[in-house]
Amino acid sequence: MQAMMPATCILRQRCAERDLAWHHPTVHDFHPMPLLNPHPPSIPGRAKVIVVGGGVMGASAAWHLAKAGAAVTLVESNPDSRSTATASSLGWVGASASSPSDNPAAFALRLKALEAFAALEGQLGPLPIATRGTLLWLSNEEETAAMIAEHQSSGTRMERLLRAQISDKEPMLAQAPPLAAWAPDDFALEPAAFARQLLAGAQDLGASMLQGTVDAVEVTGSRVSGISVGGQRLTADTVVLANGLGAQALASTAGVHLPIYPSPAVLLRFGLETHGLRHLLCAEDLELRPSLGGGLVSAADYPDNAESGFPALAARSAEAIAHLLGLTAAPALVSIAAAQRPMTTDGTPLCAYVGEIDGLFALVAHPGVILAPFLGQLCATSVLDA
Ligand SMILES: Cc1cc2nc3c(=O)[nH]c(=O)nc-3n(C[C@H](O)[C@H](O)[C@H](O)COP(=O)(O)OP(=O)(O)OC[C@H]3O[C@@H](n4cnc5c(N)ncnc54)[C@H](O)[C@@H]3O)c2cc1C
Repeated sequence: MQAMMPATCILRQRCAERDLAWHHPTVHDFHPMPLLNPHPPSIPGRAKVIVVGGGVMGASAAWHLAKAGAAVTLVESNPDSRSTATASSLGWVGASASSPSDNPAAFALRLKALEAFAALEGQLGPLPIATRGTLLWLSNEEETAAMIAEHQSSGTRMERLLRAQISDKEPMLAQAPPLAAWAPDDFALEPAAFARQLLAGAQDLGASMLQGTVDAVEVTGSRVSGISVGGQRLTADTVVLANGLGAQALASTAGVHLPIYPSPAVLLRFGLETHGLRHLLCAEDLELRPSLGGGLVSAADYPDNAESGFPALAARSAEAIAHLLGLTAAPALVSIAAAQRPMTTDGTPLCAYVGEIDGLFALVAHPGVILAPFLGQLCATSVLDA
C-alpha cells in the first residue's frame, strides 16, 4: 500500500537575520548599480555570465560558475527581502521529504541532489544546519509502516522507531506516536543563511554582486547580449534566469515563454526559547523544527481563505505544538508569512538553455533548497561547456 502524505507536508506536495545565530565570516556586499561599470572588459578565455536572482538557486549557480572559472555578475533586486521563497523556506533537506512511488524520477533526482549537498559542504565549509535527522509519522501505524518499507526497499536509510525509542530520540514529545520513521541523513538548514554563504563564497571566487532590478534581457540578432537593469545595459555571453517566479516575465522580454507558475505556502515562526526540540518533525498535521537562533519554525499549506485565514492557521499551529510538546501555554507567534514557490508545470526542474536564441539559460525548480547544489553545478557545467 502506498503511504499517504500528511495533510500539511509542504515538500511532499507536487512536487531573519534575527533568528540566525550562525554567521559566515565573510559578509557579502551588494553594490548599488552606479558603482558598477556596466561594460566591464572581457577577460580573454573567461565566459561572462550574468546570474539574475540571489535566492538559493541563483546563489548556487553563481558559486558553481565562479568556481568553474566564469566571470560572474549576480544581480539581485532586494538582498534583504524576507518575502522570497528562500527566506520563507523550511529548509528541509532529505530523501524522506518525498516517497519514491510518488514520482520515481523526482525521487532519483533528490538522491543525486543530496550527494551534491555533501560534496558542497566539503568545499564550502560547515553549512548553517539547524538540526540533523527527521522523525516522521503519518495518520496511522499502517501508513507509517508502509512509508518506511517503501523507503527501505528503495535503498534510503529509514528506520522504524517504536514509542519508547521515539521518546529517547525526542524526550520533549508529550504525544509520541506508537510508530515513527527515523531518517538519520535528513537535515534542516537556514535557507537564507545558506544562500548568503554561497554568495559570500562566490564573491571570494571573484564574482560581483550588484543590487538592482533587471528589467529586460537584451538580444542582439539571435543571441543574448546582456540585460537592462535600472535603465543601464550590462553585457554578457550568457544570462542565467534564476530569479524564481520573476524569470517568466524576464524571459518574455526576449520572446521566450517559461512553463512556471506560483504556489503559495506559509512559514510560521514561534518564539519559544526552551522548547527542547532536537529534530525536524513531520508529524501527521505539522512540520516543525528548531530554528538555529532559537525558537521554532513551522511550514503549512496556504489557507483557502488566503491571508484572512492566517490568524486561525497560527492559532491551530500553536495549539498543535503545545499539544505535541506538552506545553502549558501555546507558544507566541513571532511571524507568519506566505511566499510563492516557483513551480514548473510538469514538475521537472528547468535547468537548461531556453528559447530559440543563444545564451539564455533558465534555472527554476522545486524543492529549491534540496536541488540548489545539484542544479547549480549542472548549470555551471552546461553554461561553460556551451
Ligand atoms: C513555506 C515554504 C517552505 C518551503 N520548504 C522547503 C523545504 O523544506 N525544502 C526545500 O527544498 N524547499 C522548500 N521550499 C521551496 C524553496 O524555498 C524554493 O524552491 C526556493 O527557495 C526557490 O529559490 P529561488 O532562488 O528559485 O527563488 P527565490 O528565493 O524566490 O529567489 C529569487 C530571487 O530573485 C530576485 N529577483 C526576482 N526578480 C528579479 C529581477 N527582475 N531582478 C533582480 N532580482 C530579481 C528576488 O528578489 C529573489 O531574491 C519552501 C518554500 C516555502 C514558501
